[in-house]
Amino acid sequence: MNVNYDATATVFNIQTYSIHDGPGIRTTVFLKGCPLRCLWCANPESNQAKPQLMTYSSKCTGCGTCVKVCPKGAISIGPYKSGSMEKYIAFTDREKCVNCGACVSVCPAEAREIAGKTMTVREVIDKVKKDKLFYDGSGGGMTVSGGEPLMQPEFTANLMAAAHEAGINTAIETSSFASKAAVDLVYPHVDLGLLDIKHMDNTTHEKLTGVPNTYILENIRHIAVDLKVPVIIRVATIPGYNDSPENLIATAKFAQTLGDNVLVNLLPAHKLGESKNESLGQENRCEINVPSDEYMQSLKKLVEDAGSPCKIGG
Ligand code: SF4
Ligand code: SF4
Repeated sequence: MNVNYDATATVFNIQTYSIHDGPGIRTTVFLKGCPLRCLWCANPESNQAKPQLMTYSSKCTGCGTCVKVCPKGAISIGPYKSGSMEKYIAFTDREKCVNCGACVSVCPAEAREIAGKTMTVREVIDKVKKDKLFYDGSGGGMTVSGGEPLMQPEFTANLMAAAHEAGINTAIETSSFASKAAVDLVYPHVDLGLLDIKHMDNTTHEKLTGVPNTYILENIRHIAVDLKVPVIIRVATIPGYNDSPENLIATAKFAQTLGDNVLVNLLPAHKLGESKNESLGQENRCEINVPSDEYMQSLKKLVEDAGSPCKIGG
């Protein structure tokens, strides 16, 4: 493939020294845009493809500088209470906000930011290449995540190919909800697929994520069996939603159809998405109970007893 270094995508984070997104030390590139709407989404700032304003009430001093520059009159100062803390802060009318970023550049408290910016393959790979020594020493590399990286397949394919040109290992973290054409474009440049399964039952999957799992399971089989890309199955384990023995055993049995010793990763639920929802002016859509280590160990044993190797965490 002739790499197109000028291909662009909307990137919302480039995280260095990642140790949970594949083997070794990695740089994880997060792309915006996702076709799923999982109730427990940990990266809600990735949902929409466009850049979005995020605000941080704990940092805001209520100085009012942002009010004066907003071209849409979307910001007002008002009282705010959190626990024992009471103060005045800036509130943003999301119906009026056009995510222009004018308020971000004037805020002296860094209480506002725009999540997501357009970047070229060249800009991203130049950042990724800076830590190549760490990848080489640890068996790591670059992971492309999201959002859903298969929603921007040309960029993802070119970024992966650019990493290979630089001698960097590649992994993709994906829901696999994408066209077969997108899968076939990207996967020739992927060394490891970290493939999410939210739920094995189609009706429940649609209730929890907004989409059926049919294409997802077909794509996973295509990736592992037809394209022979090494894969790890990942389950973000959300108590009360997808942690039933029936679902985890069905996941383990499915993993066994993909090849020998396909690993199942159980990722414990966390609450990081909740504060992000507040920063985006959104409601949380489900109550997340963080599972204990002991409970996660019991789920691991369940998966192992069903015949699949299993690890807690990524
Ligand atoms: S991003 Fe632009 S439109 Fe939105 S609140 Fe800030 S200044 Fe106003
Ligand atoms: S968001 Fe920033 S500029 Fe606006 S009132 Fe708060 S501290 Fe001041």
